[in-house]
Amino acid sequence: MSSVPASAQAGKAYKLTTKVVNHGNAVRKATYKVRLMKAGSKPIVVGTTAVAVEPHRSDVFDVSVTLPKGLSKGSYSVVGCVPRGTQGWLECITAAKHVEVGTASRAAKAPVRRSADETCTSGARTLSQPGDRVYPEMGNGGYISTHTDVHLTYDAPSNAFLSGTHVDLTQVSTQCLKDFSLDFETKSPTGASTGPNMTVSSVEVNGKPASFQFKQPTYPGDPNGQDDPDPNAHLTGQTNPVTAAINVPPACSPGGTGAALQGQPCPANKLVITPSDAIPTGSQFVVTVNYTGNPGLHVDGDGSTEGWFKNGTDGSFVTTEPVGTEDWMPLNNHPTAKPTYDFYDTVNLGKQAIANGELVSSEDNPNDTTIPGGTSTWHWHNPEHVANYLITNSIGSYDLSQRLSSTGAQAGVVYYEAQASSITATKKATNKAIMDTQQDITDFQSQFNGKFPFSTNGVIIGIPSASFEEEMQTKITFAGGSISSGTFNHENMHQWWGDNVSESKFSETFLKEGWATVGEYLNTARNVSPGNLGPGDAGFETSLINRFNTNYNATSSSTWTGAPSNPTAGNLFSTANTYTRPGTAYLALRQIVGGANWVKAMQRMQSLYGGGNFTEDGEKAVFKALLPNQSTACQSKLDQFFVQWFDTAYPTPNNATNKPQITGPGLAGPGFYDATGACSRADVPTTTASFSPAQVGGYYSNPTVTLTASTPGGAGTTYYSLDGAGYVAYTAPVKVTGDGSHTLKYYSTDASGNQEPSSTTTFAVDGTAPTTTATVTPNPVNGAIANGPATVTLSATDALAGVNTTSYAVDGGAPAFYTGPITVSGGGQHVVSYASLDKAGNVEATKSVSFQIQPATSVEVGGNVQSTLGLSLGNASPTASLGTFAAGVAADYTATLPATVTSTGGNATLTVTDPSGNAAGHLVNGAYAMPQALQVAATGNGATSPAFAALGGSPLTLLSYTAPVSNDPVTLWLKQSIGKTDALRTGKYGKTLVFTLSTTQP
Ligand SMILES: [Zn+2]
Repeated sequence: MSSVPASAQAGKAYKLTTKVVNHGNAVRKATYKVRLMKAGSKPIVVGTTAVAVEPHRSDVFDVSVTLPKGLSKGSYSVVGCVPRGTQGWLECITAAKHVEVGTASRAAKAPVRRSADETCTSGARTLSQPGDRVYPEMGNGGYISTHTDVHLTYDAPSNAFLSGTHVDLTQVSTQCLKDFSLDFETKSPTGASTGPNMTVSSVEVNGKPASFQFKQPTYPGDPNGQDDPDPNAHLTGQTNPVTAAINVPPACSPGGTGAALQGQPCPANKLVITPSDAIPTGSQFVVTVNYTGNPGLHVDGDGSTEGWFKNGTDGSFVTTEPVGTEDWMPLNNHPTAKPTYDFYDTVNLGKQAIANGELVSSEDNPNDTTIPGGTSTWHWHNPEHVANYLITNSIGSYDLSQRLSSTGAQAGVVYYEAQASSITATKKATNKAIMDTQQDITDFQSQFNGKFPFSTNGVIIGIPSASFEEEMQTKITFAGGSISSGTFNHENMHQWWGDNVSESKFSETFLKEGWATVGEYLNTARNVSPGNLGPGDAGFETSLINRFNTNYNATSSSTWTGAPSNPTAGNLFSTANTYTRPGTAYLALRQIVGGANWVKAMQRMQSLYGGGNFTEDGEKAVFKALLPNQSTACQSKLDQFFVQWFDTAYPTPNNATNKPQITGPGLAGPGFYDATGACSRADVPTTTASFSPAQVGGYYSNPTVTLTASTPGGAGTTYYSLDGAGYVAYTAPVKVTGDGSHTLKYYSTDASGNQEPSSTTTFAVDGTAPTTTATVTPNPVNGAIANGPATVTLSATDALAGVNTTSYAVDGGAPAFYTGPITVSGGGQHVVSYASLDKAGNVEATKSVSFQIQPATSVEVGGNVQSTLGLSLGNASPTASLGTFAAGVAADYTATLPATVTSTGGNATLTVTDPSGNAAGHLVNGAYAMPQALQVAATGNGATSPAFAALGGSPLTLLSYTAPVSNDPVTLWLKQSIGKTDALRTGKYGKTLVFTLSTTQP
């Protein structure tokens, strides 16, 4: 049907022409009616004409339409319909151009800032921000996507796009572009048979051939540029950084969460196009991409698939969240790129093509030989902006029908219902009963969300088993041949949240999924009491409160362990964090701002962000402005609410305090307002760690750590994590043992729900005392030292902190600090005790060394050489005088000394030693030594005649006892032999000998 001219005026008549097709086997006559349709307004019939068409023929008719006066502002679709069947169903088409009343045309607004010599650069090959880890590769910058014409020539049995398939992307540059990119996955990265296998044959920009190249994405913000030669700049990953070893963010999300899929080269899915001439800033330009081949499925970050599902040889079923559209067409694959669309699908004769928006025409081309058996061409027009993951284009054998909503809150919407033709008749009837509730659902939901944002709405039920149902814009997809009512409410709610108002980045998917989950909660609430009802009804209100309390009090911890605003590509669609937690938060916000303001907030966001995108901050700003109490404290508390519910991961298991603490009035959990209606915003808790004993020399000695929390907002819980273990609740001081470095992390929550940022302290522990060793010299033999004094040397070591002091005491005397070797003298038993202290304060247990210094007797022996060769005898007692030595005469000189031996030991040995070290064993006279050694013997203990032996440097054994003895009379014998030629020096020859009685069995 042709369109009403843009210059049309109310009250005047205009002639439209339309083609009417009769697919049946008999002549059909009907009344063709043209209506003006706008969501929220009853349809207005503006022209009628009688039509009659022969079987399997089409005819063109004129119909005169007159625009009424007094139309309210808005965009009206012009819909022509004939009745179909007997159930009130219609066959309709929509004129390509709407009638705009009092609205500015939607011409693209682009900054025009041309200059003759402007610098032209590459457009950004992603719309993600530096550090983003959820589909960081998606989207393309340097231009705005304003409109897309999709031309598919599709052979269903072979699931192939044939020659003629192309897209015309109308874009407006925001910089001077040397080159720019699109997202297009033409090949399966794994070679999967369900994946795409397509080829780009040519690219044109404004009709002129352009060169093109597929490139890998680069992580957003790479300082080395988008063509960084480092392979690590182009890797898959769920986390930022990719790995501990590869310290850069991921360039793309992998096809699953398995370890082997991380850190792999990203597929080259950036179609980089270089036009023959640079594109100046602010230019509108059209990019044509011609391609052929098999569309397919994308494997997304959680390993599930989406995109172009093949239904055997019947055709396709398309459902694409979050990024699968690039597996069947090139586009700017990001939710902020929201062009309008027209779809022109040439398909096998008899197949249906179903895309977003309004059906403008469907014409059979039986003589077209593009596909054997002929073709049909379907034109769908979507006048509203569509985000990347909401574009549908399902082609196959579908039962497609339409109807108009002429009554109800959202009258004026065209509804499309499609189900795969192969579904059983019984199932089709069940499905249809549910599909028929869409107008009722839309009317019910519009009392919260406001006017339905689109000119059409509808459902496609397909056969393939896709990963999930999806809110494809105006054509909600249900997989597996079945539709369920609860999910239908969820997906229809999405038409406002996700579709009309889209998320700004993949990681904020929770914003719209939360509202869609609210759609389910509202549906449950309205069905509590039959015939109901809605806000204000007691059953409805109780249902929402119960829903909140059930979710909030659930014992499962999964709702709280992940922050909704910080997902990975692998858990982006986690029920707990992306659906339940934000949906529950929105119920709390309803209690906080009140039901009426909650509705205002929803409708204000639709008005502010409709056709575009919203953010968490944007949503927060809207709710803040609608707080009944506009105090700074309440605004600040709403900030806290958003942080708690959307941005905080509560890392320990669910319990009374470790989850968001700000809830709404009347709900489980601490409320938002205090008793006076004010918001007592408490300061965030602060936790301090104290150590006992205190640190000494950089080390703690096995300290006990006490965590003390200051909680102005009311007592809460303190958590800590020691050396990387999981956080646990703090209940008592923590003893830290184990030498070396330790890390303690801790934070506290309070009764108001404030959570302190985690603190970290790293410290060293030395809990090991030093080790001291004692060395006694001379080395005791059998615990005894033959002669004093003894020297005790102490040596201490400490591995970490180091030795501070060593102290000792001799024979139980006063302790003293060790500064050097200790001299111990005096005969008898001795004990030296000692211990060391390290710089960390660790004290060694006292150790001791004991030894005996055995009694000794000394005697002086000597003789004189008189006159020329005398010998003087010493007078000191005891002395042994050998008399006067005569030079030149060979003689032996002897002396005896009486002695008495008493020994209580098990054995005893009498030895003699010359300790002088000077001519050992020889009498000396100054520098002169007696030529022959002194000889010594003893009698006693059974020995009656002396057995002389020469004295040397070593002790000489004189007598041995094998049993104790008392007062044994002993005679010590000394003999000096003088040879005839021995030279003697005048003066006194002498030596002091040491006689020692020792025992090994004391
Ligand atoms: Zn959803």
